[in-house]
Amino acid sequence: AKEKGKNTYVVYNEGLLDEAMQEYKLEADLRNAIDHKEFVLHYQPQIDNQTGELAGLEALIRWEHPKLGLLPPGAFIRLAEQNGLITQIGEWVIEEACRQQREWHDQGRKNVTVSVNLSTQQFLNRNLTNFIEQTLQSHGGSPDWLGVEITEYMAMEYEQSVQVLEELKALGVGLSIDDFGTGYSSLNHLKNFQIDFIKIDKSFIQEVTGDHNDAIIVEAIITLAHNLEMKIIAEGVETADQLGFLAHHHCDISQGYLFSRPLPPKEITKEWLK
Ligand code: C2E
Ligand code: CA
Ligand code: CA
Ligand code: CA
Repeated sequence: AKEKGKNTYVVYNEGLLDEAMQEYKLEADLRNAIDHKEFVLHYQPQIDNQTGELAGLEALIRWEHPKLGLLPPGAFIRLAEQNGLITQIGEWVIEEACRQQREWHDQGRKNVTVSVNLSTQQFLNRNLTNFIEQTLQSHGGSPDWLGVEITEYMAMEYEQSVQVLEELKALGVGLSIDDFGTGYSSLNHLKNFQIDFIKIDKSFIQEVTGDHNDAIIVEAIITLAHNLEMKIIAEGVETADQLGFLAHHHCDISQGYLFSRPLPPKEITKEWLK
């Protein structure tokens, strides 16, 4: 029994060590990923429900890891938040979105806003608005090239958020509240901010044609947002039935696999910005 116990202990410990090593390795790799140009932005189309036309693009980061292949943000964003690398990564995202917009602009492509996701640390960084302004300027872009997405938690939890959102608004970039409905805030609290878009979380959209309660919640969010002069984006729209429900209830914009997965820039250019 002692022997077995010992083995178990060793195995358990090896497992832990393995995990720690993996993380250590990933962290070391992450430190070099920017310099080695391993990050890419994919873009997911956002569709105007009334016209069926492209209304915007959401930029979603991926890591082209030399050994592990294409990694989704779920595999490294938390680590980057823990070790502070997220600041640099976040700045790269804004820089790359502006560079890409410049390229599309020079090619005479249809002009749409690219929305980037902000991490909490980025949002609370006092240099954020300045950085966005400078980066837009250095690419000869205008504020309507960019939108930012923050979670409702970020908007509600921090005292500074009123000021940051006012600064961003004054600069002229679009403001979206991401994953709406998953936090504890209400639209009533958000009315103090000049929010352009509310993005209803995909967990509600996925049940909207099956779950009566989710249908009622989505309807209520749409109505209230419209009364507060905000537009509604539905995320995770996968079926024609979901789209039918959303269009019927005057949801403004849809985003999801029904229209397109997030795509590399070349495919966006080819299929959406012809
Ligand atoms: P999010 O901002 O809520 O982004 C939407 C996620 O839903 C994306 O996952 C997207 O690929 C996925 N999605 C889109 N349409 C559908 C659909 O129809 N069905 C389903 N099931 N999923 C759909 P992704 O790209 O893996 O990103 C995950 C999260 O990582 C994002 O959630 C965002 O919070 C974060 N993230 C992505 N890019 C960045 C970034 O540049 N910076 C920061 N700080 N976070 C990022
Ligand atoms: Ca988002
Ligand atoms: Ca979201
Ligand atoms: Ca989400």
